[in-house]
Amino acid sequence: MVRPRPHVLQMEPYRPGKTPEQLQQELGLEELIKLSANENPLGASPRVVEAIQSALCHIHRYPDGACQILRDAVSAFYDLPEEHFVFGNGSDELIHLIGLAYLEPGDEVIMGHPSFVRYEASVQLNQAVLKRVPLDADYRHDLPAMLAEVTPRTKLMYIANPNNPTGTIVYRHELETLLNDLPDHVLLVLDEAYFEYVDHPNYPNGLDYVRAGKQVVVLRTFSKAYGVAGLRLGYAVGRPDLLDPIERVREPYNVNVLAQVAGAVALSDQEHVKRTRELNRQSLDTLQEACARWGLRTVPSYANFLLIEVGERCAEIRQRLLELGVMVRSGEGFGLPHFLRVNTGTPEQNAKFLNALQTALQSLK
Ligand SMILES: *Cc1c(COP(=O)(O)O)cnc(C)c1O
Repeated sequence: MVRPRPHVLQMEPYRPGKTPEQLQQELGLEELIKLSANENPLGASPRVVEAIQSALCHIHRYPDGACQILRDAVSAFYDLPEEHFVFGNGSDELIHLIGLAYLEPGDEVIMGHPSFVRYEASVQLNQAVLKRVPLDADYRHDLPAMLAEVTPRTKLMYIANPNNPTGTIVYRHELETLLNDLPDHVLLVLDEAYFEYVDHPNYPNGLDYVRAGKQVVVLRTFSKAYGVAGLRLGYAVGRPDLLDPIERVREPYNVNVLAQVAGAVALSDQEHVKRTRELNRQSLDTLQEACARWGLRTVPSYANFLLIEVGERCAEIRQRLLELGVMVRSGEGFGLPHFLRVNTGTPEQNAKFLNALQTALQSLK
C-alpha cells in the first residue's frame, strides 16, 4: 500500500457544511437566508458583475501570472510599490503559502484562541508546533501573553484584527508595543480580512507598519466587504524580501482571470464599500439592541458579524433557526459552545433572523 506522509493523515480534511441550496431542499423551505459565512448581503458591486461578464470571452486563456492590471490598481490605491504585493486564491491560499515558505518541522507558531481556524492546517502540514493563547476576558487577543510564549523556535505569530469569530480588535498602542518587543526571528502576520468594516479611532492600519519597514505581512481579501468571496481573491502586503519566499512557492496561475478583473474593478467602486460599511453599522446596532433587550450577551464587534451568547442549548437553537429559514454558525466548532455567530444582513434579513431567534428561544423554554 502506498504510504502518505504520516503527519498529513493526522490532518482533518476541511468538511464543508451543506450548501444553502441543499438545506433549503431538504427542509422544504421557501426561503433560506445565509448569515453564516460573513458574506456581503449587498453582493458585489454591479460594476464588478458587469466587468466579469465582459471578461468571459477571455476564459480560454491562462491568467496573467503577474496579475499586472490588478497589481497596478492595488499599488496605486495604497500608494505602495508593486513589489509589496502577492496575490492569492483567497487569503486562505496565502496562509497556506506563508506556512510552506517559512515553516520548518519543530518551528513554533503562536495564535490566539479562538481565532481563524485556517492557521492551524498550515502549521500541521509543515510539522510545526501550534501554541494557542486564550483570548482575554473581553474576547480580545492577549498580546502580552502571546509575547510571553515566544521562544527561540518561534517563527510566526498570527493576529486576526478584527478577530474571527469574536469581531474584537487590538488597539494601535498594543500592537506597537508587541512589534517593538517581538524578536527578529518572528514574522508577524496581521490578518485584516475585515479591515474595511472597522470604525474605531485606535484601530491600527497594518500597512503603516509595512511602510515603516517592520517585519510584518498584512493579509487583505476581496471576500468580505468587497463581496466577491466566490471568485477567491486575497493578497499579502509586505516588504519585498519578506514576500520573496512566498513568490517562490506560489503556483504560476493561482489567481484566475475573472478574479483579477473583479479585484481591479471592485477597488474602483469605493461607494459600494461605503454603502456596505454603513449598512453593517446599522445592522450591528439593530442586532445588538435586540439582544440587549432580551438579556442576551453579545461581544462588541467591529467586523460584519456578531457573537451572541445563547447558552447551553446553542446547538438546538441553531437547528431551530435553520428550520425557520436562517443559517448561522454555532460557536462549537471554535471552542465557544454557548455562542452563535451571525453575520449582518439586509434590514429584512436582520428582521427575519431576530424573529426566528425569538421564536427559537421561546420554543425551547
Ligand atoms: C474570511 C477570512 C479569511 C479568508 O478569506 P478568503 O480571502 O476568502 O480566503 C481570512 N482570514 C479571516 C480572519 C477570515 O475571517
